[in-house]
Amino acid sequence: MTRTVYVNGEYLPETEATVSIFDRGFLMADAVYEVTSVLGGKLIDFEGHAVRLKRSLDELDMAEPCTKEELLEIHRKLVELNEIDEGLIYLQVTRGSDGDRDFVFPSEDTKPTTVLFTQNKPGLADSPAAKKGAKIISIEDIRWGRRDIKTVQLLYPSMGKMMAKKAGADDAWMIEDGYVTEGTSNNAYFVKDGVIVTRPLSNDILHGITRKAVLRMAAEAQLKIEERLFTIEEAKEADEAFTTSASAFVMPVVEIDGIALGDGSPGPIAKRLREIYLDESRKAAI
Ligand code: PMP
Repeated sequence: MTRTVYVNGEYLPETEATVSIFDRGFLMADAVYEVTSVLGGKLIDFEGHAVRLKRSLDELDMAEPCTKEELLEIHRKLVELNEIDEGLIYLQVTRGSDGDRDFVFPSEDTKPTTVLFTQNKPGLADSPAAKKGAKIISIEDIRWGRRDIKTVQLLYPSMGKMMAKKAGADDAWMIEDGYVTEGTSNNAYFVKDGVIVTRPLSNDILHGITRKAVLRMAAEAQLKIEERLFTIEEAKEADEAFTTSASAFVMPVVEIDGIALGDGSPGPIAKRLREIYLDESRKAAI
């Protein structure tokens, strides 16, 4: 089945979809994105992703390409056309192209480029990786200072994943000024003596949509949460650890820099939060 994608108002086979070589998303990484998961053919936390998209666009003085209702319609239509039961919808909005390359932003009437495509991932929720848990390494965080804006500048996170892979691990947590910021594509947590610790929101990390939902559900389940800076040493001495993201939900972490956490298998709080998150999200999906 050929994938149908969305480009600037049109639904096209992926082989026929094009954007300009002058597009600022391509030339300057002048673009923002969102990834929304699909479970049972329905969208998980669409509202959260739509709100964060608007915030990213506002922070970069980019116009909204369409209304939230239109965006929902496009997401739903792509799910339907591509018969997605479990998977992801990737959305990217760029500042567009005025037909040349220039550091200066193009004129205000330049149309943004909007691209959406689906990724079919049967078994996304029942992932073997989550049952095993992830091994992570720590690396320096050398990204720019506005990580709260979800831009497509993903070269360093991509290099971080490669560093992890080379070291025989699954992912990397990044460290700045002695404290863990976040994972290459997820927010980072550890649990010690029943308390969940995670870095507070600021411009230093992405304000994860899954983070918000999981912290709310953890509080509802009477779990203790501390939002504070933490070191990788603290995390290595934790009882358990985990990450959150829209594409991997709650992912247990079983090893940090070669040191096993607890008994080296996914911890009870991470497993419980994954279950609660998947349950609640399925119920609220639209
Ligand atoms: N931090 C970073 C750097 C990310 O790339 C992501 C995933 N896009 C997250 C955190 C998790 O955010 P969300 O829960 O909204 O997917």
